[in-house]
Amino acid sequence: MTRSAQTTPPPDAEERRKATPVIVYSVEHLPAFDAGFYGAARSHLTKLSELIVPPRDARAFTVPAGHFFRIVSIEGPQVGDLNLWNAHDLSERFFSGKTRALHATHVSTGDRLWSTLPTLRPLATITHDTLDWYGWDDDGAGVHDVIGTRCDPYTNLLLKGTEYHHCCHSNLTRALAAERNMPPSQAELHVHDVMNVFMCTGYTRDTHQYFMKASPVRPGDFIEFFAEMDLLAALSACPGGDCGASHSDDQAICYPLKVEIYRPSDGALAGWQPSAPNRYSRTHGVT
Ligand SMILES: [Zn+2]
Repeated sequence: MTRSAQTTPPPDAEERRKATPVIVYSVEHLPAFDAGFYGAARSHLTKLSELIVPPRDARAFTVPAGHFFRIVSIEGPQVGDLNLWNAHDLSERFFSGKTRALHATHVSTGDRLWSTLPTLRPLATITHDTLDWYGWDDDGAGVHDVIGTRCDPYTNLLLKGTEYHHCCHSNLTRALAAERNMPPSQAELHVHDVMNVFMCTGYTRDTHQYFMKASPVRPGDFIEFFAEMDLLAALSACPGGDCGASHSDDQAICYPLKVEIYRPSDGALAGWQPSAPNRYSRTHGVT
């Protein structure tokens, strides 16, 4: 879709376009990623458990504060859609939009996954990413985006006129419903915009539309997170497979994903505390 201008540019249009871009948020004021701390904590890990997320389906899992979890590619290239919640309060969940605004359209080692207002705190920190070599390609694409939402049956119905029940939204809904023993109609209200793990995406240069291309992930690749607080997570193995062609249907070849949960060695977290809620007064100027 191209947009053609309906109005005549003002005489100083070019001058107005030459304003200098300014980074919106002064992220240098955020607590710095402490590579030494996380490096020491992950140097001796004990695997506590693992689970398999079947293709075109999702699974929920919990991660205690101060533990690590990895999402691992097995068998073949596969994209995963990740939801995160405060394990004790589902109203606090991953805030894709603010994470994007604070870090970038795509995230990697050192970036944090932030929670929704009013708590706005790190749910997790990315501590290792075997795809960090990818960077930005010639199409402007990167890996692990926080610009997409999740494939869902509502958009699919709008665009295709057919019902499909294994979109990531539905997969995550079923996984959360099973984990928390709630009806799907209630669970789906907690499902939110995802981190697109392993997905390779960008915006087209000419029309700035969201595009995807085959993920560079291969079996053995993984992305690792440190739980900054007690987490409930859900991961969907997207029906798009490597998201190189289609999604929201049964056409793409899909593979399972593996989740591994690790405990750091005793003493590695000495002095560390789970993330605290944002301290804004919440008066909003009303006295
Ligand atoms: Zn999906």
